[in-house]
Amino acid sequence: MKTMRIHDRLFELFITEEQINKRITELSIQIIKDYADKMPVFISVLNGSFIFTTEIVKRFPYNCEVDFIKVSSYVGISSSGNVSLIANSIKADLNNRYIIILEDIIDTGLTIKNLLNDLSKYSPKKISIATLLFKPEVFKFNDEIKIDYIGFNIKNEFVVGYGLDYNGLGRNYLDIYKLKEI
Ligand code: 5GP
Repeated sequence: MKTMRIHDRLFELFITEEQINKRITELSIQIIKDYADKMPVFISVLNGSFIFTTEIVKRFPYNCEVDFIKVSSYVGISSSGNVSLIANSIKADLNNRYIIILEDIIDTGLTIKNLLNDLSKYSPKKISIATLLFKPEVFKFNDEIKIDYIGFNIKNEFVVGYGLDYNGLGRNYLDIYKLKEI
């Protein structure tokens, strides 16, 4: 099994770029079906979602807007539980619009819950959520929040690559790796 080291930790290959691309194409087909004529606003949650955003947006062959929001709750390999909206550079007029949030990973759901609260203040018509990775075992908001498009359900393990980092490193790898139990 292919492994690599980042800082003090060893990671092993988990989901290949080929598997990711195949799955993103499937998600895109759904998104196109649902939003082709709705001129959606894709809102990418930085930093981790930059690659996922590119891959979704480039497969959407109709008018749409793309905007970015920056949040952070992870320090090292666990969520600080403290979600901070670092920068909100949203330029699109969201009033009465269809928003599709693009997330790299949803873990406890705290980040997405805060985002939904913030974005609903702009009075959009609808907010949908697309995430490349989802950890159903740790998600806390099953009764409240529906995740509309999920790339892969994964167990409660720490992953890097495809935009996701471990203390700043690993975002550039196009396969996804998981922390190796030692
Ligand atoms: P939540 O608020 O849902 O608990 O956490 C969401 C955020 O935590 C993600 O946007 C991501 O930045 C970070 N995160 C959650 N799980 C992982 C993981 O396994 N690996 C990495 N690198 N970041 C994660």
